[in-house]
Amino acid sequence: MDNLTYEPKNIWSDANDSLKENIMGFSMGYKQFLNEGITERKCVRIAKIMAERAGFVPIESKNRLVYGDEVYLINKNKNIILARIGKKPVEEGVNIVASHIDVPRLDLKPVPLFEETEMAFLKTHYYGGIKKYQWTAIPLGLSGIVCTKHGDVEVDIGEQDDFCLCVTDLLPHLAAEQMKKKLSEAIEGEKLNLVVGSIPANVENYKVKQTVLEILYQKYNITEEDFISAELEAYPAFRARDVGFDKSMVGGFGQDDRVCAYTSFCGILDADIQDKTAVCILADKEEVGSMGNTGIKSKFLENAIAEMINMQNGNYNDIMLRRCLSNSACLSADVSAAYDPAYESAFERRNTPFFNKGVVITKYTGSRGKSGSSDASAEFVGKVRKMFNENNVAWQTGELGKIDIGGGGTVAQYIANLNVDVVDCGVALLSMHSPFEIASKADIFMAYKGYRVFYEN
Ligand code: MN
Ligand code: MN
Repeated sequence: MDNLTYEPKNIWSDANDSLKENIMGFSMGYKQFLNEGITERKCVRIAKIMAERAGFVPIESKNRLVYGDEVYLINKNKNIILARIGKKPVEEGVNIVASHIDVPRLDLKPVPLFEETEMAFLKTHYYGGIKKYQWTAIPLGLSGIVCTKHGDVEVDIGEQDDFCLCVTDLLPHLAAEQMKKKLSEAIEGEKLNLVVGSIPANVENYKVKQTVLEILYQKYNITEEDFISAELEAYPAFRARDVGFDKSMVGGFGQDDRVCAYTSFCGILDADIQDKTAVCILADKEEVGSMGNTGIKSKFLENAIAEMINMQNGNYNDIMLRRCLSNSACLSADVSAAYDPAYESAFERRNTPFFNKGVVITKYTGSRGKSGSSDASAEFVGKVRKMFNENNVAWQTGELGKIDIGGGGTVAQYIANLNVDVVDCGVALLSMHSPFEIASKADIFMAYKGYRVFYEN
């Protein structure tokens, strides 16, 4: 008789040596990606380099698309789509894996620099859902782009530099008032200012600010006004590392959702593409609602598919694109919350993902009564489950925490709105949205394997 119960197994418990080696080996490249892919722009750049190394070319360098072609499209330096053309017409549907490369962080305000008591600071405006207290008293880097009249300047202060920036916190000795406050109120948004200098320059007023401006001018050729046309992101300046005596986990910043971004683009590079065209999209702005021309709600994905149809057929009309979308399938590759024994009251154990039990299939997200969830169809979940079972992809299911204690969403609903079949499928994290998120290496490897199988089917 078949096993009648559902009980996902710990991947390590019956992993052979070669699987263990693959799991550990895969995490090396992943940690490097976390260390280097600090901003959306950098993630796009890395994906482009890796794709080119694998034989991908910019779509505009082609006249026609035929089976076996490997192309990429970049949108405003913050999104990339990788596509591998299958034997069947694109109009018959494509297999999409969609993840995001933006992460919760501190952005600089347009007029960030100020001086008080002969110390200089940069004001920040947080991006995405953060617990503000987690951003104080840790080393921070700053990365991004400043558009000046002389051209675009890249700023990159990180773990590799001999200095860092940081946000201060109050010493416990004097924090009697602060400690009485709610966690959500103890650190205010306007207190998340980066300490950036303390040596006064030889001028009348704002001497330390002057020192900082002089250094910025010498080093980057930027002035105070240039911050207005900048995207500078403060992030934790420490490297991704192995966690645990057994090194079974990866700890690092930005794993939501760079864990799914990395595994999904490695998956498309390695997949054996036959009938269906495979599409990997790394999106921006998920953490703030997927809007804008680089979020998944933009026309970028549709435009890219329209281009592919046109280049495959030599002609294009709108119904071809609509048919393609209606025939397409998508894994919304985003992270889930792993069960944390320290906070058991937040989880419902029967419907929560655990470390080492595989990539997580999440039928619906949302909050309260599934509000804001596209809720994948039983048929589509069944198809993905079967695909994973037949290809030895360890998977589990799970909701994002208990009913009515919070909730969240992903890009799934926006892609589902295009009439694509979509289900959430990603890696479960501990300490999600914190400066140091943790993932299981076994789960990371299974996400890669799962995405690869999905592209192939
Ligand atoms: Mn996410
Ligand atoms: Mn998130």
